[in-house]
Amino acid sequence: MTTTAAAPRAFEDFPVRALMPFTQRPPLVFTEGRGSWLTDSTGRRYLDLVQGWAVNTLGHAPADVARALTEQASRLLHVGPGLHNAPAIALADRLTRLSGLDRVFLAGSGAEANEGAIKLARKFGRKHRGGAHEIITFRDAFHGRTLAAMSASGKPGFDTLFAPQVPGFPKATLNDIESVTALIGPGTAAVMLEPIQGEAGVVEATPEFLRALRRLTSELGLLLILDEVQTGIGRTGAMFAHQRAGIRPDVMTLGKGLGGGVPIAAVLARDEACCFEPGDQGGTYTGNPLVCAAALAVLDVVAAEGFLPAMAERAAHWRDALDALALREGGPPCSGQGLLLALQLPQPGRAQRLADALRDRPGQGLLVNAVRPERLRLMPALNTSADELALATAWLDEALRATD
Ligand code: PMP
Repeated sequence: MTTTAAAPRAFEDFPVRALMPFTQRPPLVFTEGRGSWLTDSTGRRYLDLVQGWAVNTLGHAPADVARALTEQASRLLHVGPGLHNAPAIALADRLTRLSGLDRVFLAGSGAEANEGAIKLARKFGRKHRGGAHEIITFRDAFHGRTLAAMSASGKPGFDTLFAPQVPGFPKATLNDIESVTALIGPGTAAVMLEPIQGEAGVVEATPEFLRALRRLTSELGLLLILDEVQTGIGRTGAMFAHQRAGIRPDVMTLGKGLGGGVPIAAVLARDEACCFEPGDQGGTYTGNPLVCAAALAVLDVVAAEGFLPAMAERAAHWRDALDALALREGGPPCSGQGLLLALQLPQPGRAQRLADALRDRPGQGLLVNAVRPERLRLMPALNTSADELALATAWLDEALRATD
């Protein structure tokens, strides 16, 4: 299949005003992507280390996903939640085998999956813990933008934005087990966290903390819920980030990388935690065959023998190069795992200045995310080549030398 390049078109020619504004975006419109590269409407190219916010597992427009979508689109698009379809069953089966969890609910976004996990925990509390409904979550956590997911989040400002919050989410401090123990009471049903807090700036829960949480929740009969929306599906070099700590959660949510660019998310749970009864949960698009076919194509690649070890090796090499840059700039080594990394720069605001300069550099641009004023987040496609990663390092090096 060949596509002819669209005629160049200036930003001003797009009726952008029709979009409801909700965030600052650069005056660019992206029209095409292939692998690690994006092209804007003027024909300018960018090496993309944001990849749709850690979504495009296999880069832009991967052939395997395009083929799966095309085949499925001409066979069966949608049957709704009241009827079974083959791709949804195959995807649920594949996810249970990969995770060791027993059952799957399919959703459309990370926030929706987390809403499902929160409802599951509340139902579990009602059935098995005398009506307990509290879910202990963490300061600086990010679980999405629905009202309950915002209430579960610990992002500064979320507590007053759209107040009143959904109650029942007391906040503990990451990597401080005593701060969790202090919040546990008869009202507690579950503990919920990200193995790496992505939106907080790529802040890791230590393996020791994850193991201590697993021990504590098992002893007390509480659910341990892991939000792997950003860390799951190979992003950290393991299929799921919690595997590094040698633990298994009771409930896990996935999103982003699962669809490799199409919107799909999932709630996975152990049998003991699966307490939904008819009428408790649903959604028109749950298990939509089109998006399930895409997710199956992504998993075929990521779970293939050798894919993740090779990616983890490329990532480790790249991290060494980034750590050398960080050291030169007076910062600590990178945080994160695999291809979810943050370069920490001691000068506040420099991350945004760098991100802007890299995007607008002469010649081709580089897209990175200033997740915090002093942190640059890097989340390239898992199949980004060693040469592309080296090019990104060279451009970062150049920009760091030129930007205060
Ligand atoms: N959980 C985590 C850990 C996330 O990083 C995000 C998105 N950044 C979400 C949930 C929400 O996902 P979505 O935007 O698909 O609703």
